[in-house]
Amino acid sequence: MIFNEEFETLPREALEALQSKRLVSLVQRVYDKVPYYREQMDKAGVGPTDIKGIADLHKLPFTTKEDLRLNYPFGLFTVPLDEVVRIHASSGTTGKPTVVGYTQKDIETWAELMARSLACAGAHKGDMVHNAYGYGLFTGGLGAHYGAERLGATVIPVSGGNTKRQIMLMQDFASSVLLCTPSYALNIAEVMGEMGVDPASLKLRVGIFGAEPWSQNMKEEIEKKLKIKALNIYGLSEVIGPGVSCECIEGEKGLHVFEDHFIAEIINPDTGEVLPPGETGELVFTTITKEAFPVVRYRTKDLTRLMPEPCQCGRTFYRMDRIMGRTDDMLIIRGVNVFPSQIEHVLMGVEEVEPHYIIIVDRDGTLDTLEVQVEINENIFSDEIKVLEGLSKRIQGEIKDLLGVSCKVKLVEPKTIQRSEGKAKRVIDNRKL
Ligand code: ADP
Ligand code: ZN
Repeated sequence: MIFNEEFETLPREALEALQSKRLVSLVQRVYDKVPYYREQMDKAGVGPTDIKGIADLHKLPFTTKEDLRLNYPFGLFTVPLDEVVRIHASSGTTGKPTVVGYTQKDIETWAELMARSLACAGAHKGDMVHNAYGYGLFTGGLGAHYGAERLGATVIPVSGGNTKRQIMLMQDFASSVLLCTPSYALNIAEVMGEMGVDPASLKLRVGIFGAEPWSQNMKEEIEKKLKIKALNIYGLSEVIGPGVSCECIEGEKGLHVFEDHFIAEIINPDTGEVLPPGETGELVFTTITKEAFPVVRYRTKDLTRLMPEPCQCGRTFYRMDRIMGRTDDMLIIRGVNVFPSQIEHVLMGVEEVEPHYIIIVDRDGTLDTLEVQVEINENIFSDEIKVLEGLSKRIQGEIKDLLGVSCKVKLVEPKTIQRSEGKAKRVIDNRKL
């Protein structure tokens, strides 16, 4: 089902005209209301009258996480604080968190975008939506919550953690849609196994997973283990939260960007040059309808490409490919660029190991070292050392073939790697310490 038929199927020409109109008014608004944006635009020698439509977007300066930090906490808001009805903040593991604000209208926009996303992934009124995204400052929980209500579904605001209880509730309430991070979905599947609950005995039909990178093979693994469809949803607090883009159940290939609210660009992360559709680079967003905290050309650091090909679902919005990594997640190992998602892709294709792993990077003298620890499954755990050695050599070979970098693969006992309840932490880079 298409939640907002009128906007989600706009012919491209009408869509671009709408984007242009909204962009022009956004630029004028941030120039008038936010001293920082005015300074940045003055410095770049561009004024509101230079922006006549989306063809002029490239003239505007980028906004980065650093700009948000410099204006901590509320410096980039375009409305007085008494019009802000909600604050969220990103996890902020390094230093101060990134703070974002919403007016009442922003909350309504966000709810609609999340309702569109859930509908895009095949959810509908009558569904029992088990929302295991974390509630709190993190945008995941409340974002999904308002969206499910807006859709008319029944939402179970369970948040993360206490997995056994979650499974009991899924059984008793007949949950049909699961919302959480992909790593937590795997954790749930594992605990079901321990409890002797057959996923096929549940009503679960679809999972809408996001907030962290996951590979195509991980998707297949989750689908197999939970016996559901696993679809991808994307978002970030700076832009609005979850609901910036979502995969459709009909196409199941790429995530439709809700382009009547967000203009997406792909740039070369080194030069800032805008790349044509189809090329991979850093994703940049301009929010054209947000009131309290709009962003102009915000650099997400997420790497993907735009796919302009029409989709069978009927939506005219371009799709973005699965995120392949973040510019700041990329590990440079002895000069070779390595994304954790590539290693994950290899591991998920190996039958004898479980989808639980960590990547440890270190430095031995001047040489970078890469170690991948992965759990083997119960069946082969008791096998001979020789068999295990053969297995780790095989995985090492596959990683070398794909990435061109040698690494050490250490097989560890089942259930020894810490399980995630939200965003998984899978890389330990000791070189930075
Ligand atoms: P933080 O992680 O800093 O607290 P957010 O919760 O807003 O901030 O996280 C946003 C980030 O999460 C995105 O920029 C992206 O890197 C990642 N992310 C969100 N959804 C997905 C997804 N479906 N696939 C890959 N990465 C995602
Ligand atoms: Zn589609």
